[in-house]
Amino acid sequence: MSPDRYQRIRTVLAKRQTDLTVCLENVHKPHNVSAVVRTCDAVGIHRVHTVWEQKYKLRGGTAMGSQQWVRQTNHDNISDALSHLKGQGMQVLVTHLSDSAVDFREIDYTKPTAILFGQEKYGVTDEAIAMADQDIVIPMLGMVQSLNVSVAAALVLYEAQRQREIAGMYNKQHLSEQTCQEILFEGGYP
Ligand code: SAM
Repeated sequence: MSPDRYQRIRTVLAKRQTDLTVCLENVHKPHNVSAVVRTCDAVGIHRVHTVWEQKYKLRGGTAMGSQQWVRQTNHDNISDALSHLKGQGMQVLVTHLSDSAVDFREIDYTKPTAILFGQEKYGVTDEAIAMADQDIVIPMLGMVQSLNVSVAAALVLYEAQRQREIAGMYNKQHLSEQTCQEILFEGGYP
């Protein structure tokens, strides 16, 4: 690895946010998954979480086009995924077009946060809504009811990025030195 390359990866790793994550519930179109993961990389997310029920199972490896840059943990079901995230002390936000949802810009994303996005046609499951701490919505003023899931993810994640930037959260390394070394050793970010 060239010194420039090494330095570039170190700079990226130094900004990774271990307490900001995304959970994709049955988002199964490869281009959508890839687009979300690409945005995760862009805002410094270290790990994304996924749940794919049997009927939405992806063909091996197709969707995670950006997996070199962002780690992925797959969970058997949404209950396991959200229990895991709550166990890490995260507030779990579910993107959901409901009357009880608050505008996504009103949330404090400097707290440890997991944001759940739902399946392209049906959205998030009732189980996910019941387990989440808060519904959030991106206001819709037009004729169509919802945004593409990757567009919705980009909007919410960049609000999180904006708040974290202001709070100075990108100025402090979150990843342990051991994890950085492992990623560098694996040639993690080609
Ligand atoms: N009919 C589905 C529903 O009622 O949820 C629409 C699903 S939408 C195309 C796919 C995903 O994108 C949603 O589950 C949510 O994660 C996200 N999404 C799209 N538009 C949104 C909005 N305006 N506010 C919050 N999330 C949105």
